[in-house]
Amino acid sequence: MLNTRLLYFYFFLIVFLFIQGCQKDMPFPDCDLLGQTVVIDSLRSENKVLIIGIDGFRSDAMTQEITPFIYNFSERNTYKNLSHLTEEDTYSGPNWSSILTGVHYNKHNVTDNSFNGSRFDLFPSFFNYLECSLDSINTASIVNWTPINKYILSADVDYSPDISINDALVYNKARDLLINNDPIRADIIFLHFDELDAIGHAFGFSPDIPEYREVLSILDLYVDSLISIIDNKRLSGEDWMCFLISDHGGDGHSHGDYSISSIRETVFIVEHPFLDFKENYRSNQTDIAPTIFDFIGISSPHFDCKKDGESILE
Ligand SMILES: [Zn+2]
Repeated sequence: MLNTRLLYFYFFLIVFLFIQGCQKDMPFPDCDLLGQTVVIDSLRSENKVLIIGIDGFRSDAMTQEITPFIYNFSERNTYKNLSHLTEEDTYSGPNWSSILTGVHYNKHNVTDNSFNGSRFDLFPSFFNYLECSLDSINTASIVNWTPINKYILSADVDYSPDISINDALVYNKARDLLINNDPIRADIIFLHFDELDAIGHAFGFSPDIPEYREVLSILDLYVDSLISIIDNKRLSGEDWMCFLISDHGGDGHSHGDYSISSIRETVFIVEHPFLDFKENYRSNQTDIAPTIFDFIGISSPHFDCKKDGESILE
């Protein structure tokens, strides 16, 4: 009798664990049941966003001496976090994927730079939601590291060339977009600069390495020029939010070890002339997409169900 009861107990325990396991593995079809309906705040839907991505930006290299413009920019009305958390998988692929989708890498499933096994069908980029929600919105992504456009954004973004270009050309194309509307008048712009990461791998990721400092100083001039253009647009009535972000820091010649703080913590600055940002909140890569939706005034139950991050707007 006792043995039979024990047997029943184990049977129910196994069934219970199985059900629990199912629930853990399959929360996402439930989100898909919510459909793709979005609520749009028409007062905010014409807001505009510039995201400047700098690959391999170590927080302690963001100094008044090396990056005078970015340093002063961070002192404006901003959310600033120099301990912004990367994904535990500190490669570029997983981090740019989390930045662009608002979910951690256990969901989008990008674990390295091959993008094999990615699930952008289940967890699309924020550009996908924007393009599906707002007919008139124009989007652009200009990258040095082409896998971002090739694997993540090609289907979602109006203008997303996947021909490799250097950082100077990324900057030139960004200027063309902002000043001449060439080839489109873009409302949401994502930029990716890669030469800091390349110089880090070659000479070392550190503010003490002259080559690393030199590339960062050039990037600082690009950022200065682009933000000046945005400041002029603001004077003519356009409402822009600017992001300065990175995928990871670095240590020695690499950035693979999450246990090292200069790798897992990186630079994150969000600037707007007057909006309030959260205080005492520690940001991570999945917070960028929800913050953009908040600023553009898009509320998607489908995205909210799947997302991991939260808006850093108050
Ligand atoms: Zn990287």
